[in-house]
Amino acid sequence: MRLLLIEDDPMIGKSIREGLHREGYGVDWVRDGWAGEQSAKSESHDLLILDLGLPRKDGLAVLSAIRAAGKIMPVLIITAKSEVDDRVMGLDAGADDYLVKPFNMSELSARVRALLRRSFGRADTILVAGDLELNPQTREVRVKGNQIVLSQRELALLDHLMRRPGAIVSKSNLEESIYGWGEEVESNAVEVHISNLRKKLGAGRIVTLRGVGYRIDVK
Ligand code: CA
Repeated sequence: MRLLLIEDDPMIGKSIREGLHREGYGVDWVRDGWAGEQSAKSESHDLLILDLGLPRKDGLAVLSAIRAAGKIMPVLIITAKSEVDDRVMGLDAGADDYLVKPFNMSELSARVRALLRRSFGRADTILVAGDLELNPQTREVRVKGNQIVLSQRELALLDHLMRRPGAIVSKSNLEESIYGWGEEVESNAVEVHISNLRKKLGAGRIVTLRGVGYRIDVK
């Protein structure tokens, strides 16, 4: 999952990005409204976290512009108390949810998970591929009923593949789903995670199509 964060406050932005990294999300962080709008329009993100008071272009104007451009990803607004009226306008302008600052990380990540579940249309559903199960809510993975412990990155990769059953997902798409811009990514990072996943889950569950990408085996 790759998220876009538009937030000018360095402290808040840093803590959100680090918190979401720990949960296994790739986070692109942009610090002004104008640049944020360009990123939202030109890149593909699974969710947008949007501050309202922003330099160069305010959050509400950014939101209207990206909705007008046909972008349908879920949008979570984060506002200061003084901007509460803007919050209502934000929902009118096409936001899906809002949080009032200050908030704690666990609340933010719960909202993010809920919005992503809704946007993938699989509310509270366990992802299943044969005898492999992933519960996005509890983040538990089971093979034949036995729980398997995965790292955050491994979990994020597996989640990305299992939400696209039978589809071929390219390596660059997988990379984008778990890393944000400017993050140091080893060129073989995806291969390493996939190899570790195979060791933990058993061979044959993740199919490599050489030069094309990866696919989860749904049998
Ligand atoms: Ca701000």
